[in-house]
Amino acid sequence: MYNYSQISHVHFEPTQRCQAACPMCDRTNNSHIKNAEISINQFKQIINSDFVKQLRSFLMCGNHGDPMIAKDTLEMYKWLRYNNEKLHLQMTTNGGGRSDDWWKSLAEIFGEHGKVSFSVDGLEDTNHLYRVNVDWKRVENSMDVFTQAGGKGVWVFLIFEHNEHQVEEAERMAKLFGLEFVRKKSGRWVQSYKNKKVDKKITIKGKEIKPPTEPKHQNKSVNRYDKLIKSHGTFQEYLDKTKIKCKSIDTKEIYISAEGLVTPCCWTAGNLYKVYEKIGQNQIWSYIDDVKNINVLYKPLNEIIEGNFFKKIEQSWNLSSCTQGKSKVCAEKCGTGFDAFGDQWK
Ligand code: SF4
Ligand code: SF4
Repeated sequence: MYNYSQISHVHFEPTQRCQAACPMCDRTNNSHIKNAEISINQFKQIINSDFVKQLRSFLMCGNHGDPMIAKDTLEMYKWLRYNNEKLHLQMTTNGGGRSDDWWKSLAEIFGEHGKVSFSVDGLEDTNHLYRVNVDWKRVENSMDVFTQAGGKGVWVFLIFEHNEHQVEEAERMAKLFGLEFVRKKSGRWVQSYKNKKVDKKITIKGKEIKPPTEPKHQNKSVNRYDKLIKSHGTFQEYLDKTKIKCKSIDTKEIYISAEGLVTPCCWTAGNLYKVYEKIGQNQIWSYIDDVKNINVLYKPLNEIIEGNFFKKIEQSWNLSSCTQGKSKVCAEKCGTGFDAFGDQWK
């Protein structure tokens, strides 16, 4: 795929903890998630100073937690900044926590080379409908304190039926904070494991969440899904046939989870712990001989990146079908004929 010395971007999940319960998040109601978290000492061993120096960007986000919640997030960013003053630091968060001092320190460490993505899907009366348990006053305060302290950031607004009337108002508010504004059109309305589109999600509070109604707010790939099925018969047929262009090879990226598992991307990692499957059931496990062999708390990072798991995934791309071993998650996320992820931003 690539070797250790070529890696220039890391997507890191410091924790599996989060105060929220978003209905489309892989952590919500997921009994496989044990609230794992990486400590600052472990972090310094995993991401050693030489490795930090070779990187161009470092994102803290993850499949199952919010970096704002992790105990050592600030110390981790300090370590990265200390070892590489130009490294582009990024963090994705729901923004609903932490003290003023914490946000000020974050702004200072990031400086000119970094950005926080605030995932805020609406205003005072709507954000909590999808971002269940997120307190609006705290979100507003975090964005305010962080930007007042000179922090650079972007407000990422996930559009639904219940908030699409507020997109322009939120954009105006983002400008007042000095934040960029991005409209995000979820591709998660296509659920490949069910081989179908879904038209609603129910939150733990019983609220129905629906896709936006205005075409300009909708994900183009989701809208093209029916056409795709017409031309291929089933979504699985499409996955069997599509060519794969690996996004992580393009960006020279790796993903590291809060358990220390190293994978090429967050999607391959996310498939290890799907809420609707038992551990070991998902195809991704068939590329793993022993899970400790992809855990950076047990094995050096370079050996994992250049080891069997990464090789087996890449080799699978040319197999004739997913039943024959072609990676299903790769075909879904990086197949050249359907890109619901890329279309989130268009
Ligand atoms: S804020 Fe992020 S990590 Fe937390 S539940 Fe929502 S999507 Fe998941
Ligand atoms: S899903 Fe597969 S093909 Fe896509 S980035 Fe991850 S490893 Fe690469």
